[in-house]
Amino acid sequence: MAYKLDTLCVQGGYRPQSGGERIPPISQSTTYYYANTQEMADLFDLKGDGYFYTRLANPTVAAFEGKVAALEGGVAAIGCASGMSATTLAALTVCGAGDNIVSSSAIYGGTYNLFAVTLPKVGIETRFFDPDAPAEEIEKLIDDKTKIIFTETIANPSIKVLDFGKIAAIAKKHGVLFAVDNTLATPVLCRPFEHGANLIIHSSSKYLDGHAAALGGVIVDGGNFDYKGNHRYESFNVPDESYHGLVYADLPAAQFATKCRAQMIRDIGAIMSPQNAFLSWLGCDTLALRMERHSSNAKKVAAYLDAHPKIDWVWHASLPANKYHALAEKYLPKGQGGMLSFGIKGDVAQAAKFMEALRLITQETHVADVRSCVLHPASTTHRQLTKEELEQAGVPENLVRLSVGIENPDDIIADLEQALARI
Ligand SMILES: *Cc1c(COP(=O)(O)O)cnc(C)c1O
Repeated sequence: MAYKLDTLCVQGGYRPQSGGERIPPISQSTTYYYANTQEMADLFDLKGDGYFYTRLANPTVAAFEGKVAALEGGVAAIGCASGMSATTLAALTVCGAGDNIVSSSAIYGGTYNLFAVTLPKVGIETRFFDPDAPAEEIEKLIDDKTKIIFTETIANPSIKVLDFGKIAAIAKKHGVLFAVDNTLATPVLCRPFEHGANLIIHSSSKYLDGHAAALGGVIVDGGNFDYKGNHRYESFNVPDESYHGLVYADLPAAQFATKCRAQMIRDIGAIMSPQNAFLSWLGCDTLALRMERHSSNAKKVAAYLDAHPKIDWVWHASLPANKYHALAEKYLPKGQGGMLSFGIKGDVAQAAKFMEALRLITQETHVADVRSCVLHPASTTHRQLTKEELEQAGVPENLVRLSVGIENPDDIIADLEQALARI
């Protein structure tokens, strides 16, 4: 029976054995014992299910992977050490030197840096596109060496909403893997596989954990891409000598996830720790409830700020005048999430003064947990950029990024009110 999403949040990914722990125990062991040599040999050959070494797989991590795969409607998931490692391992599963990624430019700063600076050092190029550009312009970037089209459902910090229909059509037409970072929407608000995505990435450090407690990332395999005979994905179609000639495209399911685990997790090892998997699994229990509250709180805060005379502009797709409102109605009908950006009238100093006047809402380099927090990119994460460079990066100097928590919305608004009164 197919359960609904809020049921999967609390029941997905783990079923206890009779007499076993009701929630997944933290399997804090590097290795697993086998009495029978053949059983262990079969595991090494990917012929059997089981655990032998925590760098490859671990029961607690598997429970979390199972839950996220169920929530996203994917066929398999891989828990990684962080969101950044999830994106890196996903890219390396399909890209080698000479290949390229075609990516939206409206993406998380760390991912931008990975694509623009780090991957080129190993010969993987990224071609960036403006997500608002017409399909013909984006298509021009694709060539025979393009392996991934990369996007974010809700972009951080520009809060742009992805036009799934446009990107999915391009990916399908050219037979390229369509990957979406779904961190800021979560499967509660949007399920990218239903809109044509083939691969989903999460930084579980954000809403999935939800409590600012555990770093982590997840790669989810949609199981909906045909690698067999696709000239772009030769590495899925030739025997993998490091796995006794296994041809990933011939596997009955989870071809991407199997290749990623067998090659990248094995060789690079940026796997999620059992402790973090436990915390993230637990965090997901309340994900559906939290996303509802984050979204309704952010909608109220956005409307309040939008009407305030000291506020220049507000970006949140719940606002009817927002450029992405129509896309949000289509792809994020249950809510637009807790992240919003706004501009304080005035300069950097005014914005800094406002931030310091906040009492309940704290300044921190984090987003998407239960506690409301703010960041002023121009004086922190982007402080090396000039005013002109900031404009180019889509981060005006007066931009304040607010991650709306699940506190009572009246208290959040009252805090903003008293801080705005002091500038
Ligand atoms: C934070 C974040 C990441 C990176 O995740 P880490 O867990 O910090 O490595 C990637 N994408 C988005 C959208 C994020 O917000």
